[in-house]
Amino acid sequence: MQSAPSFEQIRSAPKALLHDHLDGGLRPSTIVELAAETGYGGLPTTDPGELATWMRRGADRKDLVLYLETFAHTVGVMQTAEALRRVARECAEDLADDGVVYAEVRFAPELHMHAGLALDDVVAAVQDGFAEGMTARPAITVRTLLTAMRTAAHSLEIAELAVRWRDRGVVGFDIAGAEAGHPPTRHLAAFEQVRRENFHLTIHAGEAFGLPSIWEALQLCGAERLGHGVRIMDDITVDPDGRATLGRLASLVRDRRIPLELCPTSNVHSGAAASIAQHPIGLLAELRFRVTLNTDNRLMSDTSPSQEMAQVVEAFGWGWDRLEWLTANALKSSFLGFDERGALLEDVVKPAYRALRST
Ligand SMILES: [Zn+2]
Repeated sequence: MQSAPSFEQIRSAPKALLHDHLDGGLRPSTIVELAAETGYGGLPTTDPGELATWMRRGADRKDLVLYLETFAHTVGVMQTAEALRRVARECAEDLADDGVVYAEVRFAPELHMHAGLALDDVVAAVQDGFAEGMTARPAITVRTLLTAMRTAAHSLEIAELAVRWRDRGVVGFDIAGAEAGHPPTRHLAAFEQVRRENFHLTIHAGEAFGLPSIWEALQLCGAERLGHGVRIMDDITVDPDGRATLGRLASLVRDRRIPLELCPTSNVHSGAAASIAQHPIGLLAELRFRVTLNTDNRLMSDTSPSQEMAQVVEAFGWGWDRLEWLTANALKSSFLGFDERGALLEDVVKPAYRALRST
């Protein structure tokens, strides 16, 4: 009988991350320093410890719209090329130090133009920062997803921007922001552009809003993955004896191996799930959906990839097989090229988990 993976072992295990927001993962001390450097006066406190607590409290309000409010401050200090480069570099370093070997980090370039940067300047600064972070921590590969805000009207421009940067670190396009009242079909031209260019597409869908949002993302917009997608549970019924029955949409998601970018802690904070133990990731994994485990916003949710793993280990009793399965799922679902992701899986992930299993 294997003993349960410890937190330190989990930290050492190679992990892959598909859903992490650059503006949701800043170090509190960096926010304070950048606010001072860039003259941003809106912070509720300049004490990094208090700021971390404030961010977490702001996030834990069981409402997606309120949760998104905390981003005013992180985005507020990310308006210069130097600030963006630093935040991206530290993001790569922090993820690498947590044992992440592959990460797709996303951000919305249109939110970082208040001090006069052009869209391409914003992306360039972030790519520079990731490159520096990867030089400092060679074990990690970081790629970028460019996000358009679903509440705004720049999605086609952002899709074109993502395609323009495809050979320089950007691997896909996404839309994010408040779901209710902002259906993804309003951004069809952007999705068509991405598909016309044979580029990659994931859409935040099925987080706060249910099945219609997931259906639109898949069938009308052509999403390859679902950002969250946790509400696919609404199409699954569970008998008193525990037997699950899948509806048509849930069946399609499972049959087509559509990746779910699940973010348990973030869902608990936004109110989409009552607790980790009650989070649908347990059932969805048991039913063999293409489940991946993600952080969403490390700062606001006070979490990390290792922390997310430790929580599902505790809540569901999962061992190394399940943790390796989650990691393999993420790599298989990544927008990294087939050869590269295959090499990470075979040369890095599998040997490491083999060793961890035998400890
Ligand atoms: Zn997200």
